[in-house]
Amino acid sequence: MTDVDISVNHPEALFINGQFVAGTGEEIIVCNPSNNLQLTTVRSAGKLQVDAAVAAARVAFTQGPWPNLVPFERGQYLSRIAQAIEARCEDIARIDAISSGKPIKGARREVLGAARVFSYYAGLAPDLTGSTIPLGSQNFAFTSREPVGVVGQLVPWNFPFLAAAWKLAPALAAGCTVVLKTSPFTPLSALVLAEILRSIDLPKGVANILSGGQMAGSALVAHPGIDMISFTGSTSTGAAVMQSAAAGIKRVALELGGKSPTLVFADADLAAAASASVRAVFGNSGQSCSARSRIYVESAVYQEFVARLEAETALLKIGAVLDETTDLGPLIAREHWQRVDELVRSGTKDGARLICGGGRPVGLEDGNYFQPTIFSETKAGMRIVEEEIFGPVVAVACMDASDAIDLANDSAFGLSASIWTKDLTRALKVAKGLRVGSININAHPSASQIGAFMPFGGFKQSGIGRELGRQGLEQYTETKNVLIGIES
Ligand code: NAD
Repeated sequence: MTDVDISVNHPEALFINGQFVAGTGEEIIVCNPSNNLQLTTVRSAGKLQVDAAVAAARVAFTQGPWPNLVPFERGQYLSRIAQAIEARCEDIARIDAISSGKPIKGARREVLGAARVFSYYAGLAPDLTGSTIPLGSQNFAFTSREPVGVVGQLVPWNFPFLAAAWKLAPALAAGCTVVLKTSPFTPLSALVLAEILRSIDLPKGVANILSGGQMAGSALVAHPGIDMISFTGSTSTGAAVMQSAAAGIKRVALELGGKSPTLVFADADLAAAASASVRAVFGNSGQSCSARSRIYVESAVYQEFVARLEAETALLKIGAVLDETTDLGPLIAREHWQRVDELVRSGTKDGARLICGGGRPVGLEDGNYFQPTIFSETKAGMRIVEEEIFGPVVAVACMDASDAIDLANDSAFGLSASIWTKDLTRALKVAKGLRVGSININAHPSASQIGAFMPFGGFKQSGIGRELGRQGLEQYTETKNVLIGIES
């Protein structure tokens, strides 16, 4: 068992200036979504601890060695974090599986993915370079990239450990110092991360981790000692974060919601498209920002595709999260289950055809389990087509090939999309027309294949900025230009 034992309460659930300390905020009851029983309690950060964490990060930025280290040395710390995460993989995966309702095999992949994010940015840290600007013989001008400063980071519950890695690794690699707040649904795995930061002797105050909910989150965002906010969560909270950050002209990076489309053309490999679509929408029980929850299929193959999708879905195993063969666990909370259920009912009421699923699976009444649900004959304007459901629900509609781009773009969001066709010229034309940040053509690669290499983020209401890749690192920097007169 891990040092962060799920079965004991955690009064000292804040990692500030290299120490575990007690919060004065509200008590968070962490529940097991598989049975809705209490797992443990965690004490939130109050305003005093938010102040202390920001102060520690500020001192570490202005007086500590961190931003001035040779970037290769920062990278060495990140490499050590990656190694320590790998060594603790099983503990961390079990915590996320049990407390977020994630099947263990997926949880393990996420933890190893988190280790890779740290490794990737360990390598990229020394490569954060500027450029020279030709300004004639009388001047020498260059740019440098410098860390933004103290960054406040907020993460959601759907990928608790991985999301923390996506935020911390590039910010630390860039030389920033950080205060990261976890989700009140899933505060536990980040406490193991805090233990790891302490065990590898990360300089004090460089990374501070707070447990807490909305109060701690809004105090962090509004704090005058913060230079930048990096937020992942819902679009509505993202808007509130942006508004609050505006008062201090803080930089904001926002990774928000989605309602991502898959386009299936008549010449596609339908077996591959159906199998990938099932993973793309039902992975993590649909609680993924990039879930492909709208599918548009060319009319000639519509019926066949829906039948294949239904057959593939029937193969999914829903059940105990620690069972290695489980594909779908429960939704995060009872209230969330009720919202998903309400949206599913709206689908039937609005005239969509329920192909399978639609409610609670038999025999799993104690937890927040929801059957993978397929609606066909869906139309624009239905709530199940427009709203982010964040559950295992997909709307499959018929399309003419000429309408594909317009249908896919008919959304307030613009996070991801998938295209299935053997005609690569058409695929590239469609990809060019889509107003989204990530596109897969004839593929649904696993997170481990993508690693940390591709920049990820959204157009429109899916957010501002990009995480991962080089852009994910540059996002945590300011560009400075320097001009030297060399002839008088
Ligand atoms: P949420 O918006 O409720 O909360 C996100 C974080 O913000 C949590 O830590 C929460 O405690 C904190 N928070 C809540 N209110 C706040 C406030 N007023 N000020 C500051 N912080 C506040 O989101 P959630 O329910 O935890 O996560 C689900 C959402 O996250 C979905 O919409 C999903 O699409 C989105 N998401 C997006 C991405 C992406 O990369 N685009 C990735 C994962 C999840």
